[in-house]
Amino acid sequence: MTEKKDTLVFQGRRRLLVDELSATGMFSERVLKAIGSVPRHLFVQEGLEELAYKDMPVAIEAGQTISQPSTVAFQTQLLDFKPGNRILEIGTGCGYQTAVLFYLGAEVFSIERQEELFLKARENLTNAGYLFPEDECSVSKIHLFLGDGFEGLKDLAPFDGIIVTCGAPSLPEALMRQLAPGGKMVIPVDEPGQENASEKKQILKVITRKPDGKFTGRDVSRMSFVPMLKGVEKQK
Ligand code: SAH
Repeated sequence: MTEKKDTLVFQGRRRLLVDELSATGMFSERVLKAIGSVPRHLFVQEGLEELAYKDMPVAIEAGQTISQPSTVAFQTQLLDFKPGNRILEIGTGCGYQTAVLFYLGAEVFSIERQEELFLKARENLTNAGYLFPEDECSVSKIHLFLGDGFEGLKDLAPFDGIIVTCGAPSLPEALMRQLAPGGKMVIPVDEPGQENASEKKQILKVITRKPDGKFTGRDVSRMSFVPMLKGVEKQK
């Protein structure tokens, strides 16, 4: 594997991206610092590094698309977690969002259903210096799982926050159960009435679990994500 360094050119582009996001006035300094620090070009598919710092979705392996930087920033901001919090991520993809959460001090538990991407994310996070090859999760704060995100991680629950990076058909019950009181889940849920649509739109929701265990929710915006699918897909 060729090592792709964080060159001055990439650093410059990253700074321009941060300026662009900063100009919207939507993001905290903390989130902007993470976007300005995590080298996104190490997470996009080889050959597409030129697109890494444009605010657009980029194709990755296994026919998937990674969220554009403003979406990653927005979901991270909505999750509103503290350093040391345990965060469950559904849809590791290339591992970029995982790296952003880790950079901000979270212990991240991330599930991906496609084996090809699960392996790729591990490679990317290792290559970017966030995960160590021989480390079998004993000291690392990033834990990657091949599995079906609809199930979550029952044995490791509860989580202080849950972030779903694919469009869910409805609110997954298992994930609701695995959210700690006081925690937030940021999740795109399919808009109703699109059963036959080929590309569905989602409503990005923030679900908060109150200290008494009850849930409240709010709709934040209308967006478009790749679909959340059931089951695990082995590498071909
Ligand atoms: N977090 C990524 C976004 C990846 S796109 C980023 O940093 O940009 C969404 C990912 O969700 C895809 O990789 C897709 O394979 C995965 N996915 C879809 N359904 C899933 C499920 N049920 N469980 C786990 N991952 C799922």
